[in-house]
Amino acid sequence: MTTPTPNSAHLPITSTVGVIGAGTMGQGIAALALRAGHPVSLHDTRSEALESAAQAIDVSLGRWVKRGDMSADQQTICMARLALVETVEGLADCSLVIEAIIEDLAIKKTLFSALENIVSEDALLTSNTSSISITAIGACLRRPQRFLGMHFFNPATVLPLVEVISGEATSPEAAETVTETARVWGKHPVQCRSSPGFIVNRVARPFYGEALLALQEQACDAVTLDAALRDAGGFKMGPLELMDLIGHDTNFAVTRTVFNSFFQDPRYKPSLIQQALVDAGWLGRKTGRGFFHYGEGATVATPDYAAPHPAPATIILQGEIPGTASLLGLAGDHPVHIRREPGIGQLYLDGTLVQPSTGITATTLSAQCGVSDIVLFDASVNYAKATLIVLTKADQCSAQGLANAIGFFQALGKNVVVIDDVPGMLVTRTLCMLANEAAEAVCHGIASAADVDDAMLKGVNYPTGPLAWADGYGNGHIVTVLDNLAKAYPDGRYRASALLRRKAITRTRWIPTEQQSGANL
Ligand code: NAD
Repeated sequence: MTTPTPNSAHLPITSTVGVIGAGTMGQGIAALALRAGHPVSLHDTRSEALESAAQAIDVSLGRWVKRGDMSADQQTICMARLALVETVEGLADCSLVIEAIIEDLAIKKTLFSALENIVSEDALLTSNTSSISITAIGACLRRPQRFLGMHFFNPATVLPLVEVISGEATSPEAAETVTETARVWGKHPVQCRSSPGFIVNRVARPFYGEALLALQEQACDAVTLDAALRDAGGFKMGPLELMDLIGHDTNFAVTRTVFNSFFQDPRYKPSLIQQALVDAGWLGRKTGRGFFHYGEGATVATPDYAAPHPAPATIILQGEIPGTASLLGLAGDHPVHIRREPGIGQLYLDGTLVQPSTGITATTLSAQCGVSDIVLFDASVNYAKATLIVLTKADQCSAQGLANAIGFFQALGKNVVVIDDVPGMLVTRTLCMLANEAAEAVCHGIASAADVDDAMLKGVNYPTGPLAWADGYGNGHIVTVLDNLAKAYPDGRYRASALLRRKAITRTRWIPTEQQSGANL
């Protein structure tokens, strides 16, 4: 067996691994365990599922052979180590069992109660559940200290993240052993406490929720919204196309579970828009229609880009606007001259006042400061790389006032979309809420800041860890945005995490500078 040396005192599992449930996840997990050199006993109540799983596992191993990760001989040896077992009793010699059966608490409890009497006293028992409390499953066991969550992401053979989830009774030793095992299997494990949504399915909720709310408020059309999060925000996929890919039935069910598990906290409130899609049977790609159309004849609409406008003649930057150096620095590469003057951080484009969104609408800001021509621009994970800038204008703003701003950002080489004047725009509210959710998970001791960021980078491919982004954007700025949003929506959804407020006051970082990767900038 080719097992790398573990880097902690806790040794990984080296003997037979049991996998229960030969479906989508069980197949991938079994392939990983075989590749790591374990004999694997795969059990399912349906013998036909076992047969097709064996074929699928062989295909997965074959992919690794093609990529040069293992030899054809190793593939044969791995397959010879795979035992298909028709009864749970066939798992008696396993030192680690990973359950990946139907997502049902009662059925999982029945299974683990039986399994506990079959395996040895020191075998570790884990569940790949996406949403059920690890504490609740473990409560059926005589020895719940050896029970924990081992949450792989789909496809398990590809996605690196594994959430190692401890229930109230799980022993730290069990968590460390499973963490090391995942590591030597080539995975990226993060540790967390059992709590609704664990890390990823919790912290990611605002990515969907903020998009759905902005769409409900008719901030812009669906294509433009996705373009904003992708081409301005820096995310690989827009939230609407991602929900179409996941399936609205699945995504809506997770949101509802998290919402109800948090005793209907408004922060996780499901959306009527998504409910309507589920009711209509428009579940996304798998049914040919969700927010978008798929299949033959489906066309891809383009975002509602602003028509070309000339750059303003006079561009004056008074002082510095925090977080925009990389954006305004682009002027050096384009025929755009910015006159710099002392001041409090304001940008004037032929008289139009242009500011980053702080969660307040342009219309409200205009009324507060008595200036009609106000345009706001949305946040970005990386303004220099972004191909799109999202703008909104005050209702009082003149057509020329808006044209000045559009022309300026176009002159910096960016596409521009103009959305309706919703609080926090699109990217700003999303990034601030992701950071707030991450902060709350850390505040409640669910996981460390580093593990939360790692989980979002490795589990859902975010362009930045939400907390590393918070460090760069400024925790104080996030609190300002959230407080402004809370004034616009006083239902508690936008309340800032207590720990985020403390970070804002003490000006301390979530992730030490030396641990921030380039991807986070
Ligand atoms: P699946 O439907 O593809 O496979 C489940 C398998 O379990 C089936 O083959 C079924 O016959 C078998 N099974 C059901 N009850 C059983 C029992 N009592 N004993 C033995 N076998 C039984 O399901 P899946 O998508 O692989 O999901 C499995 C688990 O993994 C669930 O808990 C799910 O929440 C979790 N999960 C799924 C995903 C995903 O994207 N599919 C991602 C992460 C976690």
